[in-house]
Amino acid sequence: MSKRDYYEVLGVSKNASEAEIKKAYRQLAIKYHPDKNPDDKTAEDKFKEAAEAYEVLSNPEKKQRYDQFGHSGMGNSGGFGGGGMNMEDIFSQFGDIFGGAFGGGFGGSRGGGRRVRKGTNLRIKVKLTLEDIINGVQKNIKVNKLVNAEGVTLKTCTSCKGSGQVTRIANTILGQMQTSSPCSACGGDGKMIDKKPANSDNDGLIRKEELITIDVPAGVEDGMQLSVTGKGNAGPKDGIPGDLIVLIEEVEHDKIKRDGTNLLYEHYLSFCDAALGTSAEIPVVNGKVKITIDPGTQSGKILRLKGKGVPNIHGYGTGDFLIYLNVWTPQKMSKEEKELIEKLKSSENFKPNPTNKDKSFLDRMKDYFN
Ligand SMILES: [Zn+2]
Repeated sequence: MSKRDYYEVLGVSKNASEAEIKKAYRQLAIKYHPDKNPDDKTAEDKFKEAAEAYEVLSNPEKKQRYDQFGHSGMGNSGGFGGGGMNMEDIFSQFGDIFGGAFGGGFGGSRGGGRRVRKGTNLRIKVKLTLEDIINGVQKNIKVNKLVNAEGVTLKTCTSCKGSGQVTRIANTILGQMQTSSPCSACGGDGKMIDKKPANSDNDGLIRKEELITIDVPAGVEDGMQLSVTGKGNAGPKDGIPGDLIVLIEEVEHDKIKRDGTNLLYEHYLSFCDAALGTSAEIPVVNGKVKITIDPGTQSGKILRLKGKGVPNIHGYGTGDFLIYLNVWTPQKMSKEEKELIEKLKSSENFKPNPTNKDKSFLDRMKDYFN
């Protein structure tokens, strides 16, 4: 199935303002909202399609990419552009747009029986240093989430008598047919709010700051999303809470670069040390490691500290710490220094003469990245 143009989906022109795009989306979202169209797959698809279009067109960066490249420009990176959105994402991202017109999302089974309300997902970003990523870390984070207000009391839904379903008998040529659909008065959970405090919303929820502890496993990567079950917004009417989605943001290390599970570090040494041999202390992430540099070391040599890299998040071992040795060529020299070098220049030993055992830089690169 080919994808419809996002502007066409929202029914706006390419020059539509931000406010027009938002208004168009809100109208569609309310029209096709699942609470208004229970068990209607077409409405659900339209609801999702509109959300996907809005997700792109409301984001200046994504909009620009879409305007330039169309759907093919959206890829799978940067969110939902390519893969469509699921209902929970829509509620957690755009819930505010419905302006309290509807409750806190829905969840549970869409089929027969009573539904259990599920709270919306909560999204947060967590910044991690390389140390955090290598060791794994426990983070305590303040989140502003929806919780059930104190003093909310529930009663059995008067419309469906608690079954969550409304049953209709229709007369057809085959006789009487019984159809049932989720109760619109309670949203299908069979419960209604009896009393609630004035400061709570229609579902008896209020916003509250809460400290959440998250265990981040070692080996996570920038852009990864961790889902912590049940730590999201509370489910209304004794429902189950949504999930907490933690987006990982990696803070770049000033000296060490990460490449998957390997770590890359550049060590500069003087021309004299490269020729005579030396030792050096290398700051690996957890502490320091002393390395020996052999006499006659060529610039571009790579030393490998096995297992001193980043643990694989799925537990498949740990990467390496690769040290690139760069020989520093002096840029300024005194007259005496120049004279000394001049004397060495004509020596046979100082003329480049790579043999087969001195692998070239390109060969070494190939070895490490294959
Ligand atoms: Zn009901």
